[in-house]
Amino acid sequence: MSPQILDNALGAVGHTPLIRLDKIAASKGLKCNLLGKVEFMSAGGSVKDRIAKAMVEAAERDGKLIPGKSVVIEPTSGNTGIGLAMACAIKGYSVIITLPNKMSLEKEALLRALGAEVVRTPTEAAWDSPESHIGVAKRLRREIPHSIILDQYCNVNNPLAHEYTTGPEIIEAVVSTPSTSSRPSTEKVDVMVAGAGTGGTITGISRAIKRTHNKDCIVVGVDPKGSILAFPDTLNAADEGAQYIVEGIGYDFIPDVLSRDPTHVDVWVKSSDEESFAAVQTLMRSEGLLVGGSSGSSLSGALRWLVTAEGQKVANTPGKNVVVLLPDGIRNYMSKPWFLQIAMEGEPSHLAGIIAQALQKP
Ligand code: PMP
Repeated sequence: MSPQILDNALGAVGHTPLIRLDKIAASKGLKCNLLGKVEFMSAGGSVKDRIAKAMVEAAERDGKLIPGKSVVIEPTSGNTGIGLAMACAIKGYSVIITLPNKMSLEKEALLRALGAEVVRTPTEAAWDSPESHIGVAKRLRREIPHSIILDQYCNVNNPLAHEYTTGPEIIEAVVSTPSTSSRPSTEKVDVMVAGAGTGGTITGISRAIKRTHNKDCIVVGVDPKGSILAFPDTLNAADEGAQYIVEGIGYDFIPDVLSRDPTHVDVWVKSSDEESFAAVQTLMRSEGLLVGGSSGSSLSGALRWLVTAEGQKVANTPGKNVVVLLPDGIRNYMSKPWFLQIAMEGEPSHLAGIIAQALQKP
């Protein structure tokens, strides 16, 4: 995009960079290119800005929203809510977000700062119980006049937003970066790795890549241990009922967006909190990328897949492009104990002694 004056912040949704993760690739002995799609650089700070904008604009086209009157209600793990609250602040709709307790204080504070009401719900409530974030949203919808749930779990504009924007941006970046002798590239997206919550991101990107660019691209889905989105179900069985701290990925039901189109994911891997948060630390310390927890899940899932038999063929081929989706930023999680742990831990730096010596001098 050439520099220009934008009408409002929604013009700065998406258009995120694809960044080489060379140091991580080298440390893992990968010969392929490892590339991160860095979504925290979108206006609202996550990949979900794209669907919030698309769902609001579609509802407006359908005449379902009236400025000053409509109340947009949405159950979310936070990021869709932030995107919706941003869009609705600009356009003049009220917003109520139902948010499971486990989601960070930073997300609630951001939502409130954007003028949204936030209703917290018990994390352990099953998705179809009246107490869950989905159940409470439906109850509010029935009681509040002029209210509407745009429903990211079913809304076709969720995967479409990624088919029309995220996917094409990835393809364009890969295609328009020519192969050189020092940086070989197939100029194709050979592997795409992303986590799934609603499944909209992975479904939409997969459709864009397979339909318009490379039908042989291998799409790898990442699902936290304790969630049931992975296929075949035997992958989920080992950790049935396990709790996970990572936010935004994993569910106890398969959203319509994902079940409508399950063939768009070729292979699933399971991720653990421990591996995810360690991978966030690596992304920050070696690549300088201020990414959130589920970005660590994407990276650790990618590295897990790259050591499988099929993955090794890619890992050992110079020029193959493996794209890892990094959905949001660490500023969503700074009050979380896991962040403080990965921020503070580590060997004392070589500067510690020098600082101590320097400060001893009068
Ligand atoms: N990571 C984070 C931090 C998210 O908020 C979400 C959205 N729930 C995802 C990953 C997964 O995206 P999707 O809903 O498109 O599968």
